[in-house]
Amino acid sequence: MAAAEPRLVLATHNKGKLREFRELLRGQIPGLDVDTQVVDAAAAGAPDVAETGVTFAENSLLKARTVAEATGLPAVADDSGLAVDVLGGAPGIFSARWAGRHGDDGANMALLLAQLADIDDAHRGARFVCAAALAVPGTAAGAGGGSAPAAVELLAVEQVEHGELPGVLLRAPRGDGGFGYDPILVPDGLCVSCAELARAEKNAISHRGQAFRKLLPHIIAALQPK
Ligand code: IMP
Repeated sequence: MAAAEPRLVLATHNKGKLREFRELLRGQIPGLDVDTQVVDAAAAGAPDVAETGVTFAENSLLKARTVAEATGLPAVADDSGLAVDVLGGAPGIFSARWAGRHGDDGANMALLLAQLADIDDAHRGARFVCAAALAVPGTAAGAGGGSAPAAVELLAVEQVEHGELPGVLLRAPRGDGGFGYDPILVPDGLCVSCAELARAEKNAISHRGQAFRKLLPHIIAALQPK
């Protein structure tokens, strides 16, 4: 049997995000086989996208738009990070490379903890934030009339949604699950760090889960047969 054609691209190279996203979509769209028809950027042959925006929303939209244009398929992308109150929202979009090297979670946490060493517990508020974007390529617009040139591919839909997970920063990492700054953020109302939560528990409250769930109705609408 021929492999099913991809119908939706998640603009990421992170397998964990792809797995989480497929779980969110599973059973939501009749006829959509999430395991074969929801694919990541590499599987769709999409290019790497430089995150040149200065906000999470800009970066998520840039990634979704570029991948939608390159593949001709609806594309979803997210951009996320940690915003610390006393640092005016930093590391923010620089979260992944706060200590200088992209993705060095240990060095990023160590630097942040050192910067906050003198900050008392009452002022250690921070939040994980996420913007998730959907871009859907349109059909040739302008053909047959109007002022737009014929056969220009316009994006038919662009939608950005946000989520956040507020909490308090610890003085030392706790727990060995998760990634990034998970070991140092205790979500409000809990007494364990994000790295001590089971994956499903974190997904249920996370900034990314919230943003993706808000985007879900727009994704469902975009995948309806026309
Ligand atoms: P990205 O949006 O996946 O590129 O994430 C950017 C960076 O933000 C990651 O490298 C982490 O340092 C941080 N980050 C984003 N989401 C989380 C999270 O859920 N837990 C811990 N760190 C996160």
